[in-house]
Amino acid sequence: MTKSFKVWKDVYAIGGSDISHPYDCSVYLLDAGDLVLIDSGAGSSFDTLISNIRSLGLDPKKLKAVLATHAHIDHIGALHQFRAEYGVQVITHELDAAKIEQARGVGAEVYGVSYTPCPVDLRITAGEQSLRFGNYELNVIHIPGHTPGSVAAYVDIDKKIVLFGQDIHGPYYREWGADTAKAKVSLQKLIDLKADILCEGHFGIYQPATAVEKYIRGYLNGL
Ligand SMILES: [Zn+2]
Ligand SMILES: [Zn+2]
Repeated sequence: MTKSFKVWKDVYAIGGSDISHPYDCSVYLLDAGDLVLIDSGAGSSFDTLISNIRSLGLDPKKLKAVLATHAHIDHIGALHQFRAEYGVQVITHELDAAKIEQARGVGAEVYGVSYTPCPVDLRITAGEQSLRFGNYELNVIHIPGHTPGSVAAYVDIDKKIVLFGQDIHGPYYREWGADTAKAKVSLQKLIDLKADILCEGHFGIYQPATAVEKYIRGYLNGL
């Protein structure tokens, strides 16, 4: 396991398959004064994520929100713990919200783990919605494809656009609710953002902008 690390300015990687638990997606933290998480890992690494926040010199009591990028277990497993113990606001797109709340079709059986359902506090309904957290504006974009309610988010920090683009790689299985025609439109939307840094869901950080575009286009071309 490696340590949590700073990605750029107020953006940190605090979880992932080689940081917190092999089942975890990448978990990113935005320090906006209030702390915002992008995804929560598969569940059993909750304590590790909290200690990783502390090891960066940040106070987990400042946790304000978790943006769940889509309703797959490796991204949502610890939502209920963050909400119950730190009172975070759970945010997700309305099209994936029911799965998170009702624990159906989240893929827990694929990983052989149990999932505790979690209420969603804020449902994203627009194609793009900007959320204010302390010093930053987190822009959430609906990118259906991998799941119907998948979202990405980006934040502009000191002239660099940091894009949280979880599961750009898919997989795009129809039986898991994927839609490749929608994914094509969504991945093009992400390319058009011209992000400088991509924080991806399982494969790490890509930069500069040319590398971000190359990464996303590789998957777009494969659809
Ligand atoms: Zn997924
Ligand atoms: Zn994933």
